[in-house]
Amino acid sequence: MTNSSGNTKPVYQIAVLAGDGIGVEVVDATLPLLERLQALHGFSLQLDSHPAGALHYRDTGQSLPEASFAAARAADAILLGAMGWPEIRYPDGTEIGPQLELRVRLDLYAGVRPARAIPGVPSVLSDARAGQIDLVLVRESTEGLFASRETGTVENDSIARDTMVITREGSRRVHEFAFRLAERRRARGRSANSVTCVDKANVFRSMAFFRKVFDEVASTHPDVEARRHYVDATALDLMRKPWSFDVMVTENMFGDILSDQAAALMGGMGMAPSGDIGDDHGLFQPCHGSAPDIAGQGKANPTACFLSAAMMLDWLAERHGDQRLADAAARLEAAVDAAYADGGLRPFELGGADGTVAIRDAVLARL
Ligand code: ATP
Repeated sequence: MTNSSGNTKPVYQIAVLAGDGIGVEVVDATLPLLERLQALHGFSLQLDSHPAGALHYRDTGQSLPEASFAAARAADAILLGAMGWPEIRYPDGTEIGPQLELRVRLDLYAGVRPARAIPGVPSVLSDARAGQIDLVLVRESTEGLFASRETGTVENDSIARDTMVITREGSRRVHEFAFRLAERRRARGRSANSVTCVDKANVFRSMAFFRKVFDEVASTHPDVEARRHYVDATALDLMRKPWSFDVMVTENMFGDILSDQAAALMGGMGMAPSGDIGDDHGLFQPCHGSAPDIAGQGKANPTACFLSAAMMLDWLAERHGDQRLADAAARLEAAVDAAYADGGLRPFELGGADGTVAIRDAVLARL
């Protein structure tokens, strides 16, 4: 999947924003794996940590210091743990979420949520075909219903309005992203290759327009099957036959909801990785939050962060045409799979007794 005319770098700069609660713990568990992968594959990462998050806001009045933002913007990629803390809020009562600020300021328009059955991890579905789940949900992350995040209105305490905004360019670039992703997955041997547009084109003009732009982009990728599915039917089929999906692409709010459903298909919050990707920047983080209920107890499952780091390496590989990073990403994923398949690994969240360090060591041993 890497191109031969790449611009590999002697050192890749990674901005590490561990954040709050178990975010710090899962990132700490991931760093030794990245160290080992550098030694095994002969590339170099400069991993620099920067403060951000709710606890930093409590201590300093800043949730994302400008210096941390500048470092994230200048880096080749961003690895984030988790941010937020229930009792710590901005004066207007909203939660502290620098992740959102990064998404907006760095124009990270594609929210990428893979859901893959990992052999040995108990599935939430009893059907044996659940072992074949291997899909990626791509969530448009800059517009849609979230476009009115700060501009919704309430009139006379009697009527509230939030407006869905779908632009041609916002849709085009995320559909294009989805098709290119599908092509890469096929190049890696995936046989049932498709992109499914998830919408509500039967009811809303905005959604019909989203699908229209999808059809236009699809016509430029005749090699990938283009499918269309209404969001309600998709919610059903993500439970009934999730193995039938490959790449899916959808509007922001639908993606917000369906991505948690997709995370459940991986077995638990601690298993589900994600990437927030734009044309110039990529941020990678586990899907879960800071989990104050288990923070500081060594019980956090760091697997989602490992898999997010693998996504980061793979994205850098693609961007820089650097096969070493692609190989390292594949090795990390394979080590996670092996740890669960043959090691009988069981994180606390899946009813076992393996904590953060045990899971780290099990994967490290299989690298
Ligand atoms: P947010 O509100 O930002 O989503 P949160 O931490 O409150 O953050 P989730 O991430 O959805 O919520 O997690 C819900 C619960 O699942 C946590 O409180 C915790 O008990 C459990 N959990 C989440 N992530 C992990 C993990 N990596 N390892 C073990 N348990 C986890």
